Amino acid sequence: MSVRSAVFYLDGQLAPEARFLMEDFRLATNGAIRAGLQACVTSRNGLCKLAYKDFREKHPNMYAQHLVSAFEVAAGILKNHRRRLRTGWAVRPPYVKPLMMKAENQAYKLDRKEGIVDLPIRAGLHVKLMLVVSRYHRRYLDDEAYSLGSLTLLPDKVIIAFRKTPPKPYAPVSVLSLDTNERSLDGVFIEEGSGAPVIAQFPDVAIIQQRHHDRRRRLQKKKANDRRTARALCKREGQREHNRVEYRLHQVADKVLSFAKSHRSVIVLEDLTGIRHKKSRDMNRRLSLWPRRELHRIIEYKAEDDGIPIIKVDPRYSSKKCPICGSIQHSRMGTEFECECGWHMDRHINASINLLQTASSKGLVGGLRFDPGAFRHDAMMILYEPAMAARSEPNGMSEEGVVVP
Ligand SMILES: [Zn+2]
Repeated sequence: MSVRSAVFYLDGQLAPEARFLMEDFRLATNGAIRAGLQACVTSRNGLCKLAYKDFREKHPNMYAQHLVSAFEVAAGILKNHRRRLRTGWAVRPPYVKPLMMKAENQAYKLDRKEGIVDLPIRAGLHVKLMLVVSRYHRRYLDDEAYSLGSLTLLPDKVIIAFRKTPPKPYAPVSVLSLDTNERSLDGVFIEEGSGAPVIAQFPDVAIIQQRHHDRRRRLQKKKANDRRTARALCKREGQREHNRVEYRLHQVADKVLSFAKSHRSVIVLEDLTGIRHKKSRDMNRRLSLWPRRELHRIIEYKAEDDGIPIIKVDPRYSSKKCPICGSIQHSRMGTEFECECGWHMDRHINASINLLQTASSKGLVGGLRFDPGAFRHDAMMILYEPAMAARSEPNGMSEEGVVVP
Protein backbone atom coordinates (compact mmCIF):
# COMPACT_ATOMS: atom_id res chain seq x y z
CA MET A 1 0.00 0.00 0.00
CA SER A 2 1.45 3.33 -0.96
CA VAL A 3 0.38 6.55 0.72
CA ARG A 4 0.61 10.01 -0.83
CA SER A 5 -0.18 13.19 1.01
CA ALA A 6 -1.64 16.11 -0.90
CA VAL A 7 -1.74 19.62 0.50
CA PHE A 8 -4.85 21.66 -0.24
CA TYR A 9 -5.12 25.33 0.60
CA LEU A 10 -8.42 26.53 1.96
CA ASP A 11 -10.62 28.65 -0.22
CA GLY A 12 -11.65 31.49 2.06
CA GLN A 13 -11.51 31.80 5.81
CA LEU A 14 -11.69 28.91 8.22
CA ALA A 15 -15.06 28.78 9.98
CA PRO A 16 -14.79 29.86 13.62
CA GLU A 17 -16.30 26.54 14.75
CA ALA A 18 -13.42 24.70 13.08
CA ARG A 19 -10.96 26.95 14.84
CA PHE A 20 -12.58 26.20 18.20
CA LEU A 21 -12.38 22.52 17.37
CA MET A 22 -8.66 22.84 16.66
CA GLU A 23 -8.13 24.61 19.96
CA ASP A 24 -10.06 21.89 21.72
CA PHE A 25 -8.07 19.25 19.90
CA ARG A 26 -4.81 20.87 20.97
CA LEU A 27 -5.99 20.95 24.57
CA ALA A 28 -6.96 17.29 24.41
CA THR A 29 -3.64 16.33 22.81
CA ASN A 30 -1.62 18.17 25.41
CA GLY A 31 -3.76 16.66 28.15
CA ALA A 32 -3.14 13.19 26.76
CA ILE A 33 0.61 13.87 26.58
CA ARG A 34 0.63 14.86 30.24
CA ALA A 35 -1.43 11.84 31.26
CA GLY A 36 0.83 9.56 29.22
CA LEU A 37 3.97 11.02 30.76
CA GLN A 38 2.63 10.51 34.27
CA ALA A 39 1.56 6.94 33.70
CA CYS A 40 4.43 6.04 31.34
CA VAL A 41 2.01 5.05 28.58
CA THR A 42 2.94 5.71 24.96
CA SER A 43 0.54 3.68 22.85
CA ARG A 44 -2.72 4.97 21.47
CA ASN A 45 -4.70 2.14 22.97
CA GLY A 46 -2.98 2.56 26.29
CA LEU A 47 -3.85 6.26 26.34
CA CYS A 48 -7.44 5.48 25.36
CA LYS A 49 -7.84 3.09 28.25
CA LEU A 50 -6.13 5.43 30.63
CA ALA A 51 -7.89 8.67 29.88
CA TYR A 52 -10.90 8.25 27.63
CA LYS A 53 -13.55 8.48 30.34
CA ASP A 54 -11.95 11.44 31.99
CA PHE A 55 -11.56 13.24 28.65
CA ARG A 56 -15.13 12.52 27.62
CA GLU A 57 -16.18 14.54 30.64
CA LYS A 58 -13.74 17.36 29.97
CA HIS A 59 -14.62 17.64 26.28
CA PRO A 60 -18.28 16.60 26.26
CA ASN A 61 -18.97 18.23 22.91
CA MET A 62 -16.13 16.86 20.89
CA TYR A 63 -16.89 14.21 18.30
CA ALA A 64 -15.66 10.95 19.82
CA GLN A 65 -13.56 9.98 16.79
CA HIS A 66 -11.60 13.21 17.08
CA LEU A 67 -10.80 12.42 20.68
CA VAL A 68 -9.31 9.09 19.61
CA SER A 69 -7.26 10.95 16.96
CA ALA A 70 -5.97 13.27 19.68
CA PHE A 71 -4.76 10.20 21.55
CA GLU A 72 -3.05 8.99 18.43
CA VAL A 73 -1.25 12.29 17.84
CA ALA A 74 -0.23 12.33 21.50
CA ALA A 75 1.03 8.75 21.25
CA GLY A 76 3.21 9.69 18.29
CA ILE A 77 4.68 12.64 20.15
CA LEU A 78 5.30 10.55 23.26
CA LYS A 79 7.09 7.89 21.23
CA ASN A 80 9.40 10.52 19.75
CA HIS A 81 9.99 11.99 23.16
CA ARG A 82 10.89 8.63 24.58
CA ARG A 83 13.30 7.93 21.78
CA ARG A 84 14.99 11.24 22.32
CA LEU A 85 15.23 10.56 26.04
CA ARG A 86 17.01 7.31 25.27
CA THR A 87 19.56 9.06 23.10
CA GLY A 88 20.02 11.73 25.76
CA TRP A 89 18.38 14.51 23.74
CA ALA A 90 15.18 15.59 25.42
CA VAL A 91 15.28 18.57 27.69
CA ARG A 92 11.68 19.28 28.57
CA PRO A 93 8.36 17.48 28.31
CA PRO A 94 6.78 17.76 24.87
CA TYR A 95 3.96 20.17 24.19
CA VAL A 96 1.95 20.94 21.06
CA LYS A 97 2.02 24.63 20.22
CA PRO A 98 0.74 25.09 16.66
CA LEU A 99 -2.96 24.78 16.00
CA MET A 100 -3.73 21.53 14.27
CA MET A 101 -6.09 18.64 14.29
CA LYS A 102 -6.21 15.22 12.73
CA ALA A 103 -9.23 13.24 11.64
CA GLU A 104 -9.25 9.59 10.64
CA ASN A 105 -10.94 8.63 7.40
CA GLN A 106 -14.17 7.58 9.11
CA ALA A 107 -14.38 10.97 10.77
CA TYR A 108 -14.81 13.21 7.72
CA LYS A 109 -16.37 13.20 4.29
CA LEU A 110 -14.85 14.46 1.09
CA ASP A 111 -16.81 15.50 -1.95
CA ARG A 112 -14.21 14.51 -4.53
CA LYS A 113 -15.94 16.30 -7.38
CA GLU A 114 -16.36 19.68 -5.75
CA GLY A 115 -13.41 19.53 -3.36
CA ILE A 116 -15.42 20.11 -0.20
CA VAL A 117 -14.59 18.49 3.13
CA ASP A 118 -17.41 17.85 5.57
CA LEU A 119 -15.96 17.84 9.05
CA PRO A 120 -18.18 17.00 12.04
CA ILE A 121 -17.62 19.13 15.13
CA ARG A 122 -20.22 17.54 17.38
CA ALA A 123 -23.61 15.92 17.00
CA GLY A 124 -25.63 18.04 14.61
CA LEU A 125 -22.88 20.50 13.78
CA HIS A 126 -20.68 20.08 10.72
CA VAL A 127 -18.42 22.58 8.96
CA LYS A 128 -17.68 22.63 5.28
CA LEU A 129 -14.10 23.31 4.18
CA MET A 130 -13.74 24.53 0.61
CA LEU A 131 -10.48 23.38 -0.94
CA VAL A 132 -8.53 25.03 -3.72
CA VAL A 133 -8.29 22.30 -6.34
CA SER A 134 -5.67 22.35 -9.09
CA ARG A 135 -4.77 19.91 -11.84
CA TYR A 136 -2.27 18.31 -9.50
CA HIS A 137 -5.01 17.59 -6.96
CA ARG A 138 -7.32 16.21 -9.64
CA ARG A 139 -4.88 13.34 -10.10
CA TYR A 140 -5.79 12.11 -6.64
CA LEU A 141 -9.42 13.19 -6.50
CA ASP A 142 -10.49 11.73 -9.84
CA ASP A 143 -8.69 8.42 -9.47
CA GLU A 144 -11.08 6.10 -7.65
CA ALA A 145 -8.20 3.69 -6.98
CA TYR A 146 -7.02 6.16 -4.33
CA SER A 147 -8.89 5.65 -1.09
CA LEU A 148 -8.94 8.27 1.62
CA GLY A 149 -6.62 8.20 4.59
CA SER A 150 -6.37 10.61 7.46
CA LEU A 151 -6.94 14.35 7.21
CA THR A 152 -4.81 16.95 8.96
CA LEU A 153 -6.31 20.38 9.39
CA LEU A 154 -4.08 23.45 9.84
CA PRO A 155 -5.26 27.06 10.05
CA ASP A 156 -4.75 27.70 6.34
CA LYS A 157 -4.54 24.29 4.73
CA VAL A 158 -5.64 20.69 4.78
CA ILE A 159 -3.39 17.69 4.22
CA ILE A 160 -5.16 14.59 2.99
CA ALA A 161 -3.54 11.18 2.74
CA PHE A 162 -4.51 9.06 -0.27
CA ARG A 163 -3.90 5.35 -0.29
CA LYS A 164 -3.53 3.06 -3.23
CA THR A 165 -2.32 -0.43 -3.91
CA PRO A 166 0.49 0.17 -6.42
CA PRO A 167 0.38 -1.77 -9.69
CA LYS A 168 2.62 -4.80 -10.00
CA PRO A 169 5.93 -3.83 -11.66
CA TYR A 170 6.21 -5.04 -15.25
CA ALA A 171 8.72 -7.67 -16.34
CA PRO A 172 11.58 -5.60 -17.76
CA VAL A 173 13.08 -6.13 -21.20
CA SER A 174 15.89 -3.61 -20.81
CA VAL A 175 18.03 -1.98 -18.12
CA LEU A 176 18.73 1.64 -17.28
CA SER A 177 21.63 1.80 -14.85
CA LEU A 178 22.30 5.23 -13.37
CA ASP A 179 25.13 6.61 -11.28
CA THR A 180 23.98 9.62 -9.26
CA ASN A 181 26.30 12.63 -9.21
CA GLU A 182 26.20 16.19 -8.02
CA ARG A 183 25.19 17.58 -11.40
CA SER A 184 23.91 14.64 -13.38
CA LEU A 185 22.69 11.10 -13.58
CA ASP A 186 25.10 9.20 -15.79
CA GLY A 187 24.62 5.72 -16.96
CA VAL A 188 24.01 3.12 -19.56
CA PHE A 189 20.88 1.89 -21.24
CA ILE A 190 20.94 -1.71 -22.39
CA GLU A 191 18.46 -3.53 -24.56
CA GLU A 192 18.82 -6.99 -25.98
CA GLY A 193 21.67 -6.69 -28.43
CA SER A 194 22.38 -3.00 -28.12
CA GLY A 195 23.08 -0.24 -25.67
CA ALA A 196 24.18 3.34 -25.27
CA PRO A 197 25.53 5.67 -22.63
CA VAL A 198 22.87 8.02 -21.26
CA ILE A 199 22.92 11.23 -19.27
CA ALA A 200 20.41 13.42 -17.44
CA GLN A 201 22.00 16.73 -16.54
CA PHE A 202 20.91 19.12 -13.82
CA PRO A 203 23.85 21.47 -13.31
CA ASP A 204 21.52 24.28 -12.23
CA VAL A 205 20.69 22.49 -8.98
CA ALA A 206 24.20 22.94 -7.65
CA ILE A 207 24.27 26.51 -8.94
CA ILE A 208 21.01 27.34 -7.17
CA GLN A 209 22.28 25.81 -3.95
CA GLN A 210 25.49 27.80 -4.15
CA ARG A 211 23.67 31.04 -4.91
CA HIS A 212 21.22 30.71 -2.06
CA HIS A 213 23.99 29.73 0.29
CA ASP A 214 25.94 32.87 -0.58
CA ARG A 215 22.81 34.96 -0.21
CA ARG A 216 22.06 33.54 3.22
CA ARG A 217 25.58 34.22 4.32
CA ARG A 218 25.30 37.83 3.13
CA LEU A 219 21.96 38.26 4.88
CA GLN A 220 23.38 36.97 8.12
CA LYS A 221 26.24 39.42 7.94
CA LYS A 222 23.98 42.33 7.06
CA LYS A 223 21.46 41.57 9.79
CA ALA A 224 24.06 40.53 12.35
CA ASN A 225 22.50 42.73 15.01
CA ASP A 226 18.94 41.66 14.31
CA ARG A 227 18.77 37.93 14.65
CA ARG A 228 15.00 37.71 14.43
CA THR A 229 14.92 39.37 11.01
CA ALA A 230 17.96 37.41 9.88
CA ARG A 231 16.27 34.18 10.81
CA ALA A 232 13.04 35.08 9.05
CA LEU A 233 14.82 36.16 5.87
CA CYS A 234 17.04 33.08 5.83
CA LYS A 235 14.04 30.86 6.30
CA ARG A 236 12.36 32.46 3.31
CA GLU A 237 15.56 32.07 1.30
CA GLY A 238 15.71 28.41 2.29
CA GLN A 239 12.12 27.80 1.24
CA ARG A 240 12.76 29.39 -2.14
CA GLU A 241 15.86 27.31 -2.67
CA HIS A 242 13.95 24.18 -1.73
CA ASN A 243 11.14 24.96 -4.17
CA ARG A 244 13.46 25.73 -7.04
CA VAL A 245 15.56 22.60 -6.54
CA GLU A 246 12.50 20.43 -6.04
CA TYR A 247 10.93 21.68 -9.27
CA ARG A 248 14.03 20.68 -11.26
CA LEU A 249 14.40 17.30 -9.60
CA HIS A 250 10.81 16.47 -10.49
CA GLN A 251 11.51 17.39 -14.10
CA VAL A 252 14.55 15.11 -14.20
CA ALA A 253 12.68 12.24 -12.55
CA ASP A 254 9.73 12.56 -14.94
CA LYS A 255 11.92 12.41 -18.02
CA VAL A 256 13.98 9.48 -16.76
CA LEU A 257 10.86 7.55 -15.80
CA SER A 258 9.01 8.16 -19.03
CA PHE A 259 12.07 6.90 -20.90
CA ALA A 260 12.24 3.80 -18.70
CA LYS A 261 8.53 3.16 -19.07
CA SER A 262 8.48 3.45 -22.84
CA HIS A 263 11.40 1.02 -23.09
CA ARG A 264 10.09 -1.23 -20.30
CA SER A 265 13.36 -0.91 -18.40
CA VAL A 266 14.29 -1.82 -14.89
CA ILE A 267 16.16 1.08 -13.25
CA VAL A 268 19.34 0.37 -11.29
CA LEU A 269 20.36 3.01 -8.75
CA GLU A 270 23.03 3.10 -6.11
CA ASP A 271 21.90 2.81 -2.51
CA LEU A 272 22.74 6.20 -1.02
CA THR A 273 21.75 5.41 2.53
CA GLY A 274 24.71 5.17 4.79
CA ILE A 275 26.95 7.27 2.59
CA ARG A 276 28.55 10.14 4.42
CA HIS A 277 31.08 12.76 3.55
CA LYS A 278 33.59 13.21 6.31
CA LYS A 279 35.48 16.13 4.87
CA SER A 280 35.57 19.76 5.92
CA ARG A 281 32.36 21.63 6.66
CA ASP A 282 32.45 23.54 3.41
CA MET A 283 33.02 20.35 1.48
CA ASN A 284 30.12 18.80 3.33
CA ARG A 285 27.82 21.58 2.25
CA ARG A 286 29.04 21.74 -1.30
CA LEU A 287 28.61 18.05 -1.83
CA SER A 288 25.40 17.92 0.14
CA LEU A 289 23.80 14.58 -0.52
CA TRP A 290 20.32 15.96 -0.03
CA PRO A 291 19.44 16.66 -3.69
CA ARG A 292 20.67 13.24 -4.69
CA ARG A 293 18.71 11.46 -2.01
CA GLU A 294 15.69 13.60 -2.81
CA LEU A 295 16.00 12.74 -6.50
CA HIS A 296 16.06 9.06 -5.58
CA ARG A 297 13.05 9.51 -3.33
CA ILE A 298 11.09 11.17 -6.15
CA ILE A 299 12.15 8.57 -8.73
CA GLU A 300 11.26 5.74 -6.37
CA TYR A 301 7.77 6.86 -5.44
CA LYS A 302 6.85 7.84 -8.98
CA ALA A 303 8.17 4.52 -10.25
CA GLU A 304 6.11 2.69 -7.66
CA ASP A 305 2.96 4.47 -8.83
CA ASP A 306 3.73 3.61 -12.44
CA GLY A 307 4.79 0.01 -11.88
CA ILE A 308 8.37 0.61 -13.00
CA PRO A 309 10.77 -1.79 -11.27
CA ILE A 310 13.71 -0.30 -9.39
CA ILE A 311 16.77 -2.03 -7.99
CA LYS A 312 19.13 -0.42 -5.51
CA VAL A 313 22.62 -1.78 -5.13
CA ASP A 314 25.56 -1.24 -2.83
CA PRO A 315 27.81 1.32 -4.56
CA ARG A 316 31.00 0.13 -2.90
CA TYR A 317 33.98 0.33 -5.27
CA SER A 318 31.67 1.30 -8.11
CA SER A 319 33.86 4.29 -8.91
CA LYS A 320 37.15 2.43 -8.54
CA LYS A 321 36.60 -0.92 -10.18
CA CYS A 322 37.38 -1.97 -13.70
CA PRO A 323 34.35 -3.82 -15.10
CA ILE A 324 36.54 -5.83 -17.50
CA CYS A 325 39.27 -7.29 -15.33
CA GLY A 326 37.88 -6.50 -11.91
CA SER A 327 40.96 -4.77 -10.55
CA ILE A 328 40.51 -1.83 -8.21
CA GLN A 329 42.21 1.49 -8.88
CA HIS A 330 43.12 3.35 -5.74
CA SER A 331 44.68 6.42 -7.26
CA ARG A 332 42.48 9.41 -7.92
CA MET A 333 41.61 9.96 -11.51
CA GLY A 334 40.30 12.67 -13.74
CA THR A 335 37.17 12.50 -15.82
CA GLU A 336 38.32 9.26 -17.42
CA PHE A 337 38.63 5.90 -15.74
CA GLU A 338 41.69 4.06 -16.95
CA CYS A 339 42.85 0.56 -16.22
CA GLU A 340 46.10 -1.27 -16.92
CA CYS A 341 44.18 -3.81 -18.94
CA GLY A 342 43.45 -1.16 -21.54
CA TRP A 343 39.86 -0.34 -20.56
CA HIS A 344 39.01 3.32 -20.38
CA MET A 345 35.68 5.02 -20.00
CA ASP A 346 34.11 8.18 -18.64
CA ARG A 347 34.40 7.80 -14.88
CA HIS A 348 30.69 8.27 -14.16
CA ILE A 349 29.58 5.92 -16.92
CA ASN A 350 32.10 3.41 -15.63
CA ALA A 351 30.51 3.61 -12.19
CA SER A 352 27.09 2.90 -13.67
CA ILE A 353 28.46 -0.15 -15.49
CA ASN A 354 29.75 -1.41 -12.15
CA LEU A 355 26.35 -0.85 -10.56
CA LEU A 356 24.79 -2.82 -13.37
CA GLN A 357 27.31 -5.61 -12.90
CA THR A 358 26.56 -5.76 -9.19
CA ALA A 359 22.83 -6.00 -9.91
CA SER A 360 23.36 -8.59 -12.61
CA SER A 361 25.70 -10.72 -10.47
CA LYS A 362 22.92 -10.95 -7.91
CA GLY A 363 20.53 -12.07 -10.62
CA LEU A 364 18.39 -8.96 -10.22
CA VAL A 365 18.09 -7.99 -13.87
CA GLY A 366 17.00 -11.34 -15.21
CA GLY A 367 18.79 -12.98 -18.07
CA LEU A 368 19.79 -9.76 -19.78
CA ARG A 369 23.34 -10.05 -21.04
CA PHE A 370 25.60 -7.17 -21.78
CA ASP A 371 29.11 -6.51 -22.89
CA PRO A 372 30.66 -3.38 -21.35
CA GLY A 373 32.77 -2.81 -24.42
CA ALA A 374 29.91 -2.92 -26.87
CA PHE A 375 28.65 0.63 -26.63
CA ARG A 376 31.93 2.32 -26.02
CA HIS A 377 31.71 4.29 -29.20
CA ASP A 378 27.97 4.80 -29.29
CA ALA A 379 26.43 8.24 -29.16
CA MET A 380 25.34 9.61 -25.79
CA MET A 381 21.58 9.70 -25.31
CA ILE A 382 20.36 12.73 -23.43
CA LEU A 383 17.46 11.89 -21.14
CA TYR A 384 17.24 15.37 -19.72
CA GLU A 385 19.01 18.70 -19.90
CA PRO A 386 18.10 22.07 -18.41
CA ALA A 387 17.01 23.46 -21.77
CA MET A 388 14.09 21.04 -21.61
CA ALA A 389 12.76 22.79 -18.54
CA ALA A 390 12.03 26.22 -19.94
CA ARG A 391 9.87 27.56 -17.16
CA SER A 392 7.46 29.18 -19.54
CA GLU A 393 6.39 25.86 -21.02
CA PRO A 394 6.61 23.21 -18.35
CA ASN A 395 4.68 20.60 -20.33
CA GLY A 396 5.81 21.39 -23.81
CA MET A 397 8.40 18.65 -24.29
CA SER A 398 8.18 15.33 -26.01
CA GLU A 399 8.17 12.20 -23.91
CA GLU A 400 11.17 10.57 -25.53
CA GLY A 401 14.82 11.23 -24.88
CA VAL A 402 16.57 13.14 -27.63
CA VAL A 403 19.40 11.43 -29.44
CA VAL A 404 22.34 13.62 -30.16
CA PRO A 405 24.54 12.43 -33.02
ZN1 LIG B 1 40.94 -3.59 -16.15
